[in-house]
Amino acid sequence: PALPASATLRGAADRFGDATVLHQAGHEVTFHGLLARASAFAHALHADGVGRGDVVALHLPNCPQYAIGYWGTLLAGATVTPANPLLAPDDLGAQLADAGAAVVVSWEAALPAVLAARPATSLKRVLVTGAHGDPEQLPPEVTGFSAHLDGRPATPPGTDLEVDPDRDLAHLAYTGGTTGRSKGVRVTHRHVLTNALQAACWGTGARPDVTATVHGPGVVLADPGPASEFPTPIGTGRAIGIAPWFHAMGTIGGLNVPLLTGTTTIVHARFDPRAYLADATRFAVTSLSGAPPVYAALLAHREAAGDLSSVRSLTSGAAPLPVEIIRALRDWFGEDLVISEGYGLTEVTMAATLGPAARSADRRPGTVGLPIAGTEIRISGPDGEELDAGAEGEVWIRGPQVTGGYHRRPAETAAAFDGDGWLHTGDVGVLDGDGYLRIVDRLKDMLLHKGYNVYPRDLEERLLALPGVTGAAVVGRPVGVDGEHPVAFLTTVPGADGAAVRAAVGGLNERLLPYQRLREVHLVGAIPVSAAGKVLKRDLREQLPALSP
Ligand code: ATP
Repeated sequence: PALPASATLRGAADRFGDATVLHQAGHEVTFHGLLARASAFAHALHADGVGRGDVVALHLPNCPQYAIGYWGTLLAGATVTPANPLLAPDDLGAQLADAGAAVVVSWEAALPAVLAARPATSLKRVLVTGAHGDPEQLPPEVTGFSAHLDGRPATPPGTDLEVDPDRDLAHLAYTGGTTGRSKGVRVTHRHVLTNALQAACWGTGARPDVTATVHGPGVVLADPGPASEFPTPIGTGRAIGIAPWFHAMGTIGGLNVPLLTGTTTIVHARFDPRAYLADATRFAVTSLSGAPPVYAALLAHREAAGDLSSVRSLTSGAAPLPVEIIRALRDWFGEDLVISEGYGLTEVTMAATLGPAARSADRRPGTVGLPIAGTEIRISGPDGEELDAGAEGEVWIRGPQVTGGYHRRPAETAAAFDGDGWLHTGDVGVLDGDGYLRIVDRLKDMLLHKGYNVYPRDLEERLLALPGVTGAAVVGRPVGVDGEHPVAFLTTVPGADGAAVRAAVGGLNERLLPYQRLREVHLVGAIPVSAAGKVLKRDLREQLPALSP
């Protein structure tokens, strides 16, 4: 439907009204309340002359004010740029300047970073959330977020309905910066609404074209029906909001999809496995979601878990979910649990594929499922030729959620987005005969040894299967003309015997081809991951010179 992205909130307020949409530390917000507060923020933006074509930065951990800032910006007809709340001043300044943000909503702890970044930006207002009972205590150039909204109209100004869904940007979303400098992705209203519907319908078994009904300026999903074998009927879901909302998985999966499905989100600003497990029991949550490190940590705290029989489904994304973890989760939650791994990138709004959501579906652990509605995946060879099922090549994606390219980066846009609508992802993948996609690795993480390709992910899966190993990351050490040698960084269970772990790796090496063998093993306390849950291989490569081979 040619609606603005705010149609999701309007539809949700219409249909789920007084139910709870967000719950954090005893504080509850209803769907109606969210629309009212977001409307107040939209009016506040207009009062500052901020509207269509302007950019509002959200620089906050997950919290109700983030959701109010997000939906309020869209209701004002403006564009959201989500920013990692822990960015250092230089990186924050670079993003705010690149995006041309006029307003930032930040939080108390980050205020020094925002004020340090400000001279590099064109910000005209800095809003801050936090324990500011007394606005007099704020620096003069900063405004308290809640006080700024109080007393403003609680109904939308209507400017969201004037946006052009195909041209106006809902988000200027920055890539994770895992492989290089973070880039701004131009995401229109249509991209957001489409990808949110694609993902929401996947979980209900409904198809977006038949079930997204338009309620005035809002959009809602039809129920899949009482006989459905899809895990959670509309309006009954409870989820924990742990994926950071500044990242694609959080913006679409955490902020948008629950409004389409009428799900209550228990908001967690930071990940603490014990708190996560406690709330999962207390609120009888129906679905778990997170990046793979979340599940690794939950498994490590399994003994602290209470009754989790309410959990029907689990979704993972952002990085590969090791088969070993899937096995352990099955052992914990039972065979009935739907485990759905998705694959996507900021450039496709969020998702391109998702693992099957139905209970009786064909499960293929180690794959990221099938293309979601309206999406095509092809595997391409070095010259762009289409490869057959079973062959490894670059993953290309085409579909209504593939964005228009990067902000102010024409060369990088031309390199990744071709004239036929295909996004060249830089990921290596394989399609099986039934269209299930397996992500082999990122092209940029692949190692070359004497002309052979070595895929770290494959080695990591094998390392994780060794006794005592809890985490594995493989990077290459450059060794002159031969290329690179694979080097393993491992975390282990507490008290593990280092010599035994090394011996197990030695045993694994005997089963590998010569060029795949792990030439070094470093036992470490932790493997560095980004806020979105991706292993920071760059950081590991930088450690290599200081580590003796
Ligand atoms: P940058 O592009 O700036 O280096 P980034 O890669 O962190 O940053 P994102 O858009 O957050 O940017 O991440 C997209 C990438 O995440 C994909 O290209 C892919 O490599 C990886 N990814 C996402 N989901 C999965 C998955 N289920 N399995 C394997 N890899 C995944």
